[in-house]
Amino acid sequence: MNTFIPPKRTLMGPGPSDVPARVLEALARPTIGHLDPAFQGLMEEIKTLLKYAFRTENALTFPLSAPGSAGMECAFVNLLEPGDKAIICRNGVFGGRMVENVERAGAIAVVVENDWGEPVDLQMVEDALLDHPDAKLLAFVQAETSTGVMSDAETLCRLARDHDCLTVVDAVTSLGGSPLEVDKWGIDAVYSGSQKCLSCPPGLSPVSFSERALDVIRSRTEKVQSWFLDLSLVMDYWDGEGGRSYHHTAPVNAMYGLHESLLILKEEGLEAAWARHTAMHERLRDGLEEMGIEFLVAPEYRLPQLNTIKVPDHVTDEATLRKRLLEEFNLEIGAGLGALAGKVWRIGLMGHSAREENVELCLRALRRVLN
Ligand code: PLP
Repeated sequence: MNTFIPPKRTLMGPGPSDVPARVLEALARPTIGHLDPAFQGLMEEIKTLLKYAFRTENALTFPLSAPGSAGMECAFVNLLEPGDKAIICRNGVFGGRMVENVERAGAIAVVVENDWGEPVDLQMVEDALLDHPDAKLLAFVQAETSTGVMSDAETLCRLARDHDCLTVVDAVTSLGGSPLEVDKWGIDAVYSGSQKCLSCPPGLSPVSFSERALDVIRSRTEKVQSWFLDLSLVMDYWDGEGGRSYHHTAPVNAMYGLHESLLILKEEGLEAAWARHTAMHERLRDGLEEMGIEFLVAPEYRLPQLNTIKVPDHVTDEATLRKRLLEEFNLEIGAGLGALAGKVWRIGLMGHSAREENVELCLRALRRVLN
């Protein structure tokens, strides 16, 4: 065995996305202790930068030392107690995982089901809220990575508020790529992932919880069944100056990387980053349509950062074509998931991957393998 040298790829799948050199350099800096005052200063800056990215003043805004799935689990295990009811919108893989989380927390999931490729239906959600006035929370995926669909997070949050329900929003693929307004939309719990539009390696989950959510957590009658994800314990670790106490050993170098990627986002500006994702999506869309390729999702619901296209009819073995893209062009695109396996490809334009040169490479490579 030798030192592992990864191949140099262009990452245009559903994540991870390309990691810029600045972030890779940050990751390689010397490790220091996680209770070192210098590291504590870094933690404070990460919290401030995450508040910027999430557009929130929530005091409890920090990155969990675990991937996006842990962010999802953290929201449900802290907000729900056995017997509670939660309305869950399922229009793809990740809504399905939410249902799993709710049931494993001993709570009851009322599922609002929409077809894969469709956004969450607002009327169906309103009906569910009217039918279940005892529901504690409404949860949905803003940007469904399995289908490439954007749901109307602002309206869904308003509906939840009108019915006195908390909101849990999956922003794993949306944060940094599409508008997300945690405070303005009144989101109570939101989680994301480092490896999508933030262009960091995978493994961290930025989260943010409102005061309303914290009140619910503080008034729990039962302990959170997960020790690691119990916010009442993690909170102290991420608390401000002087209050920090040992909870776990944070992945120190991963935090250097996240800090750098958030700095890059701040330098570009959130609105400029959203606009760049849209511009690159439009460029890719035009090129794909010229080749006769169709999108799965109607234009008004498409995610700029995740383009789900139908595998052309004449392609009998889509996996071989993806393998050729990887071997001949060092280009990774994503396969379909679940019910869409074999039927679609998912082309990611996330974070640092949302660049002209990536769009051009992808179009050139697809033209070659499809001919
Ligand atoms: N939610 C959505 C919408 C996702 O796209 C993903 C990952 O792709 C997750 C949750 C889970 O994140 P992770 O794979 O980082 O655990």
